Formats: sequence, structure tokens, C-alpha cells
Amino acid sequence: MTEPDQLRLLAVHAHPDDESSKGAATMAKYVAEGVRVLVATCTGGERGSVLNPAMDRPEVWERMAEIRTEEMARAREILGIEQEFLGFVDSGLPEGDPLPPLPEGCFALVPLEEAAAPLVELIRRFKPQVMTTYDERGGYPHPDHIKTHEISMYAFEAAADPDRYPDLGEPWQVSKVYYQMGFTLPRTKALHEAVLATGTESPYTEWLEKWDPAKDISHRVTTHVQCAEYFPVRDAALIAHATQIDPTGRWFSVPLDVQSQAWPTEDYELVRSLVDAPTPEDDLFAGVRSSADVS
Ligand SMILES: [Zn+2]
Repeated sequence: MTEPDQLRLLAVHAHPDDESSKGAATMAKYVAEGVRVLVATCTGGERGSVLNPAMDRPEVWERMAEIRTEEMARAREILGIEQEFLGFVDSGLPEGDPLPPLPEGCFALVPLEEAAAPLVELIRRFKPQVMTTYDERGGYPHPDHIKTHEISMYAFEAAADPDRYPDLGEPWQVSKVYYQMGFTLPRTKALHEAVLATGTESPYTEWLEKWDPAKDISHRVTTHVQCAEYFPVRDAALIAHATQIDPTGRWFSVPLDVQSQAWPTEDYELVRSLVDAPTPEDDLFAGVRSSADVS
């Protein structure tokens, strides 16, 4: 059930763990403010690798789908969010030259109209005013991330249209849509410099050397959400995805106070808005909070 005057945020993600690495502190902040936050996870992450040496054991590989569901449940509790799987099968990250074909039946190969249907149903049922998703490149070029972008934009339009998917609930118009803008050059540079200033080695050195400045997307950022207070919650949620995250890994080597000083926000690009919300802004619900009727 949805309350007419309650704020609701829907974050669409490709795999279990993406919600904890992209916008997790933002979600924890809004949960603390009383916003209902729902994560839609497109796939079960069945084709993910084990990226944490401590979890790289045959009994883990055998129960991969089940374990990732359990990990998601823990992360959900830590973040204080609601979460639903949309029921698609992970496409895996194709590697090699030439790239191998995608596995039959995987999310990336499902026709768009069919792939968007569960999200249309969810939007009409949850009635979010704000939705976040990935940019047109998927944030990074995993076929499931690109597909996540595609179904999000398609479902945003379709959910509001009474002529489309008439069996999937009453039409609902999402007011604002954002792309996650986590990995920008200015943020990475700021973190890199802050780490070096502490006299320790930076985990960003190699990454920055390879970075093509022409591909930087930071000029697209419209919205900085202050959420450093919730970085510890984000990290705890990430660590809950034990198959995917090595808690001794170099990304956890940057102390939280250094991160909070260097870049205390998570960043977004506002790409659709039906409300009056001048940018730059610092709140995903700017323009929504003030509207009298958000039912
Ligand atoms: Zn992913």
C-alpha cells in the first residue's frame, strides 16, 4: 500500500550488490528521513564471479544464486530499504576477442517490451515520485547495465500511459528520473589527492593513468546529495555481498573521514523532470516536496 503524501524513491539496478556500490549512502539518508526506498534488482546475479578470495570455494560456486539472494537480504536490512527481484537471468560479462555470444534467455536478450513489463507493474504499484537508473552506457558497459537503462526509460514512459500494459495496474507518472553519476573524474581525482595527502599509497593511481578525460561525464552532473554521514552504512551493505566484495581490498583502504572530507556527496544527472526543480540541486525530491498533491 502507498500513502498519498509519502515520498517514495525507486532505484533500478542490474545485479545484487549494485545497489550497495551505487547510491547506497543516498538511499540510507532518505530512509533515515522517512522516505520509502525500493530497489528493483533486474537479475539474480547468477553469472557473477566470486571476487572475494575468502569466498572462492566449491560450495559457494555451487549455491551462487541462493547465496547472492541471501547476501541481498542482508544488504537490504542494513540499508533499511525494500527490495524486489524483477526475475531476469544475469547475462554475465562477455570477455574475449571476438566477444562470445550472450547466453540464451539472459536479461540482455529479452525483447524490450517484455523486459520492461515487471518494472512497469512495479512503478504502478509502488508509485515512486523519483526513480534512479544508469546512463545510456550503463555506467559501465555490462550488457545487463545497459539493458537496465533501457527498461528504465521505457518503463518510465509506459507506466504513465493508460494504453500500454493495461493489465499491469493504474497508470503512474514518475516525476523525476536520474542517472547515477558515481565515477566522475573530479571525484576520483579528489579522493586520489586526499589519500596521497595522508602519506599513503592511492588505490586510484592506475585507474587515473588510464582515464581518458574526453570520456569524463562530470559536466552532466546536476545534483549532489550530501550523504557522507551514511558512508559507513554503505560500506556495511557492500561487505554483506561477501562473494562480490573483498573486505580487505584496496577500496576499503581509504579511511572514511578522508572520503567524507574529499567528496561528501553522491552525484546524479537529472534527465527527466515534470516538476519545477532548477539545477544544480542537492535533493532528489526538490520540486516534489513542495507540490501540494503527490498522490
Ligand atoms: Zn552489476
